[in-house]
Amino acid sequence: MPLIIVTGLPTSGKSTRAQQLHDYLSIRVAETKHRLHLISDDSLSISRTVYDLAALPAHTRSANASEKDARASAYAAVKRVLSDRDIVILDGLNYIKGWRYQLHCEAKAVRTPSCVLQIGCAPDRARQVNQERLDRRATAGEGSDSTPGPYEQGNWDNLVFRYEEPNPMTRWDSPLFTLIWEDDEAQAERTFAALWEAIAGDGRKVVKPNQ
Ligand code: ADP
Repeated sequence: MPLIIVTGLPTSGKSTRAQQLHDYLSIRVAETKHRLHLISDDSLSISRTVYDLAALPAHTRSANASEKDARASAYAAVKRVLSDRDIVILDGLNYIKGWRYQLHCEAKAVRTPSCVLQIGCAPDRARQVNQERLDRRATAGEGSDSTPGPYEQGNWDNLVFRYEEPNPMTRWDSPLFTLIWEDDEAQAERTFAALWEAIAGDGRKVVKPNQ
């Protein structure tokens, strides 16, 4: 069963949609013998700071070891569970196209489909969400509630700048499904149903390893 790669700008609503998708799929898989997994930076205890280039000494920037380590642990977590009987939702920035390509190849290696769910959100809206989290941290202090921590402003700006939009013309970014911030529950459900159909329904494409 497939790998669903969630992608979008920082604080654009990815985890919210990933959780909605998880809830939707948990009902669908109840009729089958499949297992469902939700993997995220939070579930892997990966801090927002691993993406922060400013936190690194200048000479190590190109290597950005902590982000590479974070990707390695996400990769290992996906690889551990991905099979034709397991549906894996990978909730994260997943903003590097080469990384999405690598994940697509991993799915292909276990002969299961992959797809991308892009969370569309105006940068100003996403920035506002992060700003609210920064403000809350400033007044209430670090770790004072259960909401995920904010990205430092420079880190957030840089991630938006580095973001590589999915391209549905490429094998590794297709099929591509999109939900935007304004989409209501009914629209989200239609998108989830189309996603299910593409990766697990009767119309599901057979994955050949050498394709
Ligand atoms: P990300 O995973 O991209 O960092 P989150 O899912 O944590 O983003 O969402 C950030 C905040 O925005 C949360 O407080 C969440 O409740 C809110 N949010 C996310 N998506 C929506 C939406 N479509 N409509 C309204 N609020 C949303």
